[in-house]
Parts: sequence; structure tokens; C-alpha cells
Amino acid sequence: MPGAPLNDLRRPLRAQRDDLLAALARVVDRGLLVHGPENEAFERELAAYLGVRHAVGVACGTDALELALRAATGPRRGVVVTVANAGGYTTVAARRAGLLVRFCDVDPLTHCLDPGALEPLLDEEVGVVVVTHLYGRVADVPAVRAACAPLGIHVLEDCAQAFGATTADGAAGALADLAAFSFYPTKNLGALGDGGAVTTDDGALAARVRRLAQYGWAKRYVVEEDGGRNSRLDEVQAAVLRRRLPGVEAGNARRREIIGRYAAAAGPRVRVLDAPPSHAGHLAVVETDDASDLARHLADHRIGSGVHYPVPDHRQPAYSGEYAGVRLPVTEALVGRILTLPCFPEMTEDEIEAVCRALVAY
Ligand SMILES: *Cc1c(COP(=O)(O)O)cnc(C)c1O
Repeated sequence: MPGAPLNDLRRPLRAQRDDLLAALARVVDRGLLVHGPENEAFERELAAYLGVRHAVGVACGTDALELALRAATGPRRGVVVTVANAGGYTTVAARRAGLLVRFCDVDPLTHCLDPGALEPLLDEEVGVVVVTHLYGRVADVPAVRAACAPLGIHVLEDCAQAFGATTADGAAGALADLAAFSFYPTKNLGALGDGGAVTTDDGALAARVRRLAQYGWAKRYVVEEDGGRNSRLDEVQAAVLRRRLPGVEAGNARRREIIGRYAAAAGPRVRVLDAPPSHAGHLAVVETDDASDLARHLADHRIGSGVHYPVPDHRQPAYSGEYAGVRLPVTEALVGRILTLPCFPEMTEDEIEAVCRALVAY
């Protein structure tokens, strides 16, 4: 039985081995390891790819969220609104920045922020609404912006799962005031370790993020911005990302195709969340009455699966007491119903077929 792993990062590494080593050699031979020409070129290429004015390379996606939140919130605007089903990264980043989090429920079909549930949560204390493009699906940013604009609230896209997603209005990462990206190895554009970026059209916000990512310095050793940290995209990672950027589009198309194949194979007990052309195809997620039962069935067919994510933010042990009164009916109902199937560009036909057969048999 062929089976299929949930993911296999060795395959692209093997295929790109020579190019990656050449990129490493370039950095080693030049001898500039941080704040060098690779980072500068990657920032430029990333901004051009997305169609935005500014991109700032940082150390990881969670830093990108935190720095963007710090840059976009001001005094008496210390509340962040976001969803509770997206892995908790925004909540961790907001708490690290000393901001309060209010949770918004999600849409039962897309699992992304439900703009209809948003308006009652907005007031003059809210500084930022974070919209996560969950699983690679572009969330309804225009509706969120329309709700936020009258109150002067910034909108931040979390694009960690949606690199390369494009809509008629522009790319994910170019749809709101600013955006955060992660280049963690499993993302659609992945580094050889950690990496991240903040993008924006607003020069003042970009400058603020840049200062905050470098201790709050306006210039060397002069701190003009409080709340700074050290967060850099190093030259090795920037060189690797430049090598991989041109391949993202084909990889995403392959991911969407795989999700489409699963949707065609699945019986009435499994709903595959669809991946329209605007989708980055990051994760193939299905909904079913008993996700652990489906996971066991897949394991019997030697097919890997995962859950993204098993615990909503407001029920996380570290701070559940604080959010004890929070009720998110849709988010809570999805717990135990979601399962992630194998989906990566290097999957073989045999592996895709194996997943489809297991779905037919369920
Ligand atoms: C991966 C991820 C992040 C965090 O990125 P790191 O680089 O691991 O810090 C943030 N948001 C979402 C939605 C993610 O999937």
C-alpha cells in the first residue's frame, strides 16, 4: 500500500540542493551575514511580487505580527480583534506587545473571520483587526475594512498561510493597511529555518516597523521608539527565499489541484473546504462529524493527517481563565470536526491516488 505522508520537506531540499548550496556559498564568500544585499534584494523582490511599496524582513512570522501590531496601535487603542481558530499566533504576538485580545467568531463555510460577527466587537479602544487568511483562503478583507474605517481601526492581514494568494483586488498582503508573513519551512514560501516579513504601502508604518525590529533605533545606538526588539531576516535565509520565490506560483497551483482531487473523491461524510483560484492551497482541510475516526481510517491506509488547530485560543490553558466568559459558537463547534490531509507540491500521483481511494472508502 503506497500511503502518503502529511508533508515531506526533504523532497524540495533534494531537488534544489545545488541551488541552495550555491546561495549559501554566495553569502559565505561575501562575508556579510545580516542587513546585507540579500535581505535588501529580497525585500525589493517581495514588495514587487506583492504589489506593495514596502517590505521589511524580520526573524519569523510571530515577530512580524508583533512588530506590525506595535507599529499600528497607539495610546488608548490597546485592543486587538482576531479569530480564535488560527493557531494562536496573533494572540501570542498581541499579548507579547501588551495588547488586549477580543475574539471574533468565524464563518461556518470558510472558517475565516465572519464580518457579520465583527461589528459588535468594534469601538474606540480597538487599534487593529487581524484577518487571517486561514489554510490559504483569502478572507473577506473589504468587508472588514468597511467596518473598521469609520472608527479609524487598522486592518492587518496574517498571510503566513497565504503566500501567493491573489484576488482581483490584489495579492494577499496588499489588501489592507499592513500584512505579516512567515517563512517557516512548511509555509508555501519556506526558508531553511525561521524568517518573516511585514509589508505595507504606508511609509510611516514601514519605518516604524524597521525601527522596532532594530531595538527602536532611529540611527545607530539612538533609541527613538520604545518597545523595540532585535528581529532580523539573516542573509542565508534571504538568499534561500530569493531562490524559492519564483517557484511559489507553480507550487500553489499544484496544491489547489490536489485539493480539487480530494473534493471530487470525498463522499457525503466528508466536506473538503474548497480551493478557488484565489486560494494559496496551503492546507487541505476537511470537515466531518468525527475527525478522530477519519484520522484512524486514514492511518489504516498509511495516510498522515493533522489538526489545524485542536485548541481555540480562548480555551488555551495558559489564559483560559481570562476568556472564561467568551462564547464563539461556530469556532467551538468546529473542534473535533476538522482534519488536515496531505497537500504539498512534491506529492506523487500514487500518493494523491492513495488519499483519494481512502476518501472514497470512508
Ligand atoms: C506559521 C504561522 C504564524 C507564525 O509564524 P512563525 O514564523 O512560526 O512565527 C503566524 N500565523 C499563522 C496563521 C501561521 O500559520
